[in-house]
Amino acid sequence: MEPVRLGLVGIGKIARDQHLPAIAADRRFRLAATASRQGRVEGIDGYHDIEDMIRACRLDAVSLCTPPDGRYAQALTALEAGLHVMLEKPPTVTLSHIAALTQAARAAGVTLFATWHSREAAGVAPARAWLADKRILAVRIDWREDIRRWHPDQEWILGSGGFGVFDPGINALSIATEILPHELLLEQASLDVPAGRMSPIAADLRMRCGDAVVHAIFDFLETGPQIWSIEVDTDAGTLRLAMGGSILQLPGEPESIAADREYARLYARFAELIAAGQSDVDIRPLRLVSDAFLIAERRITEAFAF
Ligand code: NAP
Repeated sequence: MEPVRLGLVGIGKIARDQHLPAIAADRRFRLAATASRQGRVEGIDGYHDIEDMIRACRLDAVSLCTPPDGRYAQALTALEAGLHVMLEKPPTVTLSHIAALTQAARAAGVTLFATWHSREAAGVAPARAWLADKRILAVRIDWREDIRRWHPDQEWILGSGGFGVFDPGINALSIATEILPHELLLEQASLDVPAGRMSPIAADLRMRCGDAVVHAIFDFLETGPQIWSIEVDTDAGTLRLAMGGSILQLPGEPESIAADREYARLYARFAELIAAGQSDVDIRPLRLVSDAFLIAERRITEAFAF
């Protein structure tokens, strides 16, 4: 079968770190063009924006690695041009935008894939399988990283629609919604928003999963050890996921660690969805973030500069 001719949009950190190597390693895709105002990939036709790229190139699909604000319009342009679309997380800024994209994909008869890369971490599928028949007693989510180290000069991340600390925090929510056997319901939230910014730099969420309390702490100002962990107390002991889901520890067993294949798995899934004529859009992590913005107590904290 001919490879999918792919256009990559938004040549920034994640496009370079993960998408380009994953695409190069997957024979089902051929990188045909890029669209980015400044970013270029050597040897590949580069265009300023997605409209120019679609006009000039014969493509089958696009993968969007731009910041979430603005991605809706880019995705809609591609879907209406009859192209399959893969979205970085979080898929859009609002729930109505992702609903509209889902409809547009259906109307155009093409694939829409809203990715959650953290769900592809090695420990996530076995954690889900192990938890399926356990009674959940309590869940602790601890997601703390240094914004300056992982998002240097990404001013957009603290702007409107930038998600702030939910940019990494939504990864934890994507894992929690995947592995826990009941729906997560948000009951209480507080957000710390630096003076003059629109999005939070820290968040504290209290949720419920069945009878269990789920407590999540997201912090973008952690300069000590970086922590991306989820602990689930059950009637059969405590399950621990660490390093964003790549390390799994089940009670009484040694840690299991596996190599990072998150983006290889995302592109494999995109190819399968295209071949099967299906879409995959799970809005649950985005819905929890949206709920937090609806009910949270907001505290204005010290101004932040990168
Ligand atoms: P980034 O480094 O800022 O790259 C995004 C690129 O999109 C920019 O380089 C920019 O390239 C282009 N762009 C288009 N419109 C833009 C706008 N209005 N403002 C800023 N840039 C714009 O961001 P990133 O870290 O790659 O993140 C992009 C998405 O990937 C986010 O949704 C993020 O959650 C997700 N993600 C990031 C990571 C990570 O480790 N950084 C990991 C997983 C997922 P031009 O200037 O050339 O147009």
